[in-house]
Amino acid sequence: MLPNRVFDLHAHSTFSDGDLSPEELVARAHRAGVTVLALTDHDAVGGLPQARVAAEAVGMQLVAGVELSSRWSNMDIHIVGLGVDDTDPSFLARLATQSERRYERSERIQQRLSKLGMGDILAAVKAQVGEKPPGRPDFAQAMIQAGHCRSVDEAFRKYLGQGKPAYIAMEWPALPEAVQWILDAGGQAVLAHPGRYKLTRTKLSLLIADFKQAGGAAIEVVTSSQEPTKTNQLADLAEKYGLLASVGSDYHGPKMPWVEIGRYAALPTRCKPVWQDWVLF
Ligand code: AMP
Ligand code: MN
Ligand code: MN
Ligand code: MN
Repeated sequence: MLPNRVFDLHAHSTFSDGDLSPEELVARAHRAGVTVLALTDHDAVGGLPQARVAAEAVGMQLVAGVELSSRWSNMDIHIVGLGVDDTDPSFLARLATQSERRYERSERIQQRLSKLGMGDILAAVKAQVGEKPPGRPDFAQAMIQAGHCRSVDEAFRKYLGQGKPAYIAMEWPALPEAVQWILDAGGQAVLAHPGRYKLTRTKLSLLIADFKQAGGAAIEVVTSSQEPTKTNQLADLAEKYGLLASVGSDYHGPKMPWVEIGRYAALPTRCKPVWQDWVLF
């Protein structure tokens, strides 16, 4: 009989914008019944060694993952890498350039916030993040603490989101380049949460076609908080473009209680799973 495997191939820890340490994340995933977990921090793989040790201790399989920020058609598009070699020096050097971009952006976001009359939010962000490169969620937290908004969502909606006054377009690598980074690091590239980019049908098809052309292996057909019609549409697109299907909660921690590790809708049975050729124990 086949073992009853439960996959979650998209989750964050404190090594990017998640609330839980890699150990806490693994423990929570284990409690939730997950047997194969990918830790996919934004542009960071530093949490993987700890996650690996914790997963091994409870007999869970850990997939070395990452979620790269890339650019396509003037939008931030996220590419998950699964099975990457997180010791590969050139991959690590590439991730370091992503961190540098975040530090540069943080200065530019602060300039915008100053113009909006907000004072030194960056100082609070720096105190908060320590060694970690600052992300927009860190700005949102600091803005809440300074009393400029009430929630992370409000901070994104009013200031930090695409097209808003403190939004800085990032010079992330172009999508094909980000895919290549993952391939060079020995991983499979997965187009993250394609339903979340608010694209028309035509534009979504274009994105998926470009991703496939770049060497992408799979699209995330199932993610948290997704309408069944969207899941179906993505399953159709995966089939049409000859792509495998991935599943993941995109868990960020208990501060977003509507998302839970290991909890997402079933993958439509017509999909070929991204793990079809994996060696699983
Ligand atoms: P960054 O990578 O620093 O540009 O920040 C992007 C991250 O912010 C995403 O990965 C999400 O986790 C988070 N994010 C984006 N939009 C929102 C939102 N409206 N509310 C809360 N978090 C968000
Ligand atoms: Mn995030
Ligand atoms: Mn993402
Ligand atoms: Mn994510």
